[in-house]
Amino acid sequence: MINLILFGPPGSGKGTQAAHLVERYNLVHISTGDLFRYEIGNNTPLGLQARAFMSKGELVPDEITIGMLRNKVEAHPDAGGFIFDGFPRTIPQAEALDHLMEEEDTTIHLLLALEVADEEIIQRIKLRGITSGRTDDADESIIQNRINVYKNETTPVFDYYARQGKSHSVNGIGSIDDIFDRLCTVIETQGGQ
Ligand code: AMP
Repeated sequence: MINLILFGPPGSGKGTQAAHLVERYNLVHISTGDLFRYEIGNNTPLGLQARAFMSKGELVPDEITIGMLRNKVEAHPDAGGFIFDGFPRTIPQAEALDHLMEEEDTTIHLLLALEVADEEIIQRIKLRGITSGRTDDADESIIQNRINVYKNETTPVFDYYARQGKSHSVNGIGSIDDIFDRLCTVIETQGGQ
């Protein structure tokens, strides 16, 4: 069993790479962004709460996000492992995830951080916005806010797992296959598989 955190700024390719990693390592993919968008699409109370924050490029409060994540993990008692995409984004979320993994008698094995420069990210997100229908991908000031939130609130999560010897940076520029190979190399050399 291996539990991975796929880390990196918005637009760094986490969703794309997660889809490939799920297949290779037989993991359950949990993207908190996707879960919120699903709730919004179904007009649920959780979706309504989340939308107010997402539309501004801000983080949904920890209590809401952690509760949703916990439900999703607990819904997969037989998972061969998880890949967390877009979670944890704050230190309290990381602490809650470690606690949850402990309850499930497992642990986070690796945090893989995709590194992509700001200018490239902005271009990628704007391009994605044309087809994704995501309003938070369409507006440059919201995109910038998401990048600022990532730098201020989320990058400490890299250091949190670095203190556990679990954080690894991967160059997120190149073809999808090349980046995938880089991720697999780290998993196979560092993941204890
Ligand atoms: P993403 O699809 O990961 O880019 O997430 C889109 C938006 O969903 C973010 O800008 C946040 O508003 C919200 N979101 C997703 N994951 C989290 C999280 N772990 N904590 C708080 N907010 C989140």
